[in-house]
Amino acid sequence: MRRKTKNFKYGDVGIGSDYPITIQSMTNTDTRDVESTVNQIKDLEKEGCNIVRVAVLDDTAANALKDIKKQISIPIIADIHFDYKLALKSIENNIDGLRINPGNIGSHLKVKEVVKACKERDVPIRIGVNSGSVKKEFVEKYGGVNKDSMVYSAMEHVNILEKLNYDKIIISIKASNVRLTIDSYRKIAKMVDYPLHIGITEAGTPWRGTIKSSIGIGTLLLDGIGDTIRVSLTGDPLDEIRVGRQILRSLDMLEDSVEIISCPTCGRTQIDLIDLAKRAENALENIRKPIKVAIMGCAVNGPGEAKEADIGIAGGIGEGLIFKKGKIIRKVPEDKLLEELINEIEDL
Ligand code: SF4
Repeated sequence: MRRKTKNFKYGDVGIGSDYPITIQSMTNTDTRDVESTVNQIKDLEKEGCNIVRVAVLDDTAANALKDIKKQISIPIIADIHFDYKLALKSIENNIDGLRINPGNIGSHLKVKEVVKACKERDVPIRIGVNSGSVKKEFVEKYGGVNKDSMVYSAMEHVNILEKLNYDKIIISIKASNVRLTIDSYRKIAKMVDYPLHIGITEAGTPWRGTIKSSIGIGTLLLDGIGDTIRVSLTGDPLDEIRVGRQILRSLDMLEDSVEIISCPTCGRTQIDLIDLAKRAENALENIRKPIKVAIMGCAVNGPGEAKEADIGIAGGIGEGLIFKKGKIIRKVPEDKLLEELINEIEDL
């Protein structure tokens, strides 16, 4: 069961246990380059990204947010380190969320100013502790970088905001180590009722990073922990969204996407099933329907093994069968299989 949290919004996207789990990514364009950043955000949105984060390194980037915001339709979070003036400028320029650690801003007065601006504009603040940035005093106190030093490091930032009566807080405590990430989130989930943004940080290249993220994010989601997710990959941000969607889809937490079941092939396979499955995956990527599609290698076991699929293909010799809910409905030549399958899906 999903952990109960406070609920609020980034723009018009709800965050917390009353809302669906959302997928985030971060642009890797230079935020000062408005055109490239807007284009990447639009591509991310098309892929299924719900919330986007951008790095704000200087004044020009903070000013660019105004133009970026006008051209996009998903909420945007400004990611700021240390400089409270950049935070104020970003809030002024209509951002929907702020990612900043209040303990790193400097004087209490500066924190107060940022919190005041966030209250006025209804901007939630995400505080984020990564395993690489745990404060030295916590590392020493808790005997290294572990769940305790991670959690209490994050709580220090949370306490600063709470003392200023601010509670639109989202917390992330990511590590590149999967076990440490899971342990840390499990601990903090019992201590607070703020929404949690989850992910494995610096998870690596798409291949390794997908595996690490799926294990880490998947385990937490099955525990009921996690309100927004990010898959951090060393690669194209669009891949982060594809993987994020598939993680949610695999756990039946995403309604609007096609689930593909495909057999591993064996000595009975008489068509080029591996190629067919890849082409089907590409063709179905942007279809937003809650259906299961099976791509199976043979008519002997295929339809039966994939009974729970709404629609599917079972390979024969140079041809294949289209089946629905385990029942064969038509025989089709191999080169027309994908086309026929897509027609059937569109009619569903
Ligand atoms: S569905 Fe048929 S071809 Fe595919 S693995 Fe099973 S038996 Fe082999």
